[in-house]
Amino acid sequence: MFSSRAIEIKNPEQIDKMRVAGLLVGQTLELLRSSVSAGVSTGELDAIAEDSIRRGGGVPSFKGYSEPPFPASICASVNDEVVHGIPGERILVEGDVLSIDCGAIVDGWHGDAAITVPVGPVAVEVTELLRVTEESMWRGFAAARLGGKVGDISHAVESYVRSQGEYGVVEEFTGHGIGTAMHQPPDVPNFGRPGRGPKLVRGMALAVEPMITMGTRHCHLLDDEWTVATDDGGWAAHFENTFTLTPEGPWILTALDGGEARLTELGVPFGGH
Ligand code: MG
Ligand code: MG
Repeated sequence: MFSSRAIEIKNPEQIDKMRVAGLLVGQTLELLRSSVSAGVSTGELDAIAEDSIRRGGGVPSFKGYSEPPFPASICASVNDEVVHGIPGERILVEGDVLSIDCGAIVDGWHGDAAITVPVGPVAVEVTELLRVTEESMWRGFAAARLGGKVGDISHAVESYVRSQGEYGVVEEFTGHGIGTAMHQPPDVPNFGRPGRGPKLVRGMALAVEPMITMGTRHCHLLDDEWTVATDDGGWAAHFENTFTLTPEGPWILTALDGGEARLTELGVPFGGH
């Protein structure tokens, strides 16, 4: 008997469907990236996202998620907010950073990705935080091999971040399996030891999503019961993509180019088609 914690294995046709959902998420995030500017509210960005997802034939997976039901189509987390910020009246100002997390379901299959975007010019150390966080995600994909372990990804993310300075690696939230549901086993922590955890096999799909802070890794929940913010007020960044492994290599389902450019830079064969 398979337990309810069994890892969902997708066949190639199902992975192709996840690519459709992933592309819609990736396209929506690019639209949002170009819409971020001083004077725009996070609620306006949410409306742009919902319209993009629905016009693309998808359903926003965040809307109504969990309890209390998440009220929007994106998470919009500003500055010291790490993840799960609720979009609304807040107006972005120059120097802010905005983490946008977006999920969509197309034909029953999920895509999940996030970017952190500067609002105009930001402090150098903030630019560096964003670079380190995004790069750690790519190091995670680059470390994934069929026959390897989930811990190889976790270790690659953490060790890259640690090599770059005194950052906080958030532990309470992790990457995850994804497919016919947004959150599935296994967890993909952003810290850990190589060679540990579930085996990476063909047909798995995982979201890798480092959440990195400029100070303490410790966080708390705000009164809205969703927004997670750092305890010390240090700023945070969050990047995420959904990916799978083919016999050729990693394929980043939520990246517009499938991840080919960045994987090639890292010397990793591209597994998409
Ligand atoms: Mg996400
Ligand atoms: Mg996720």
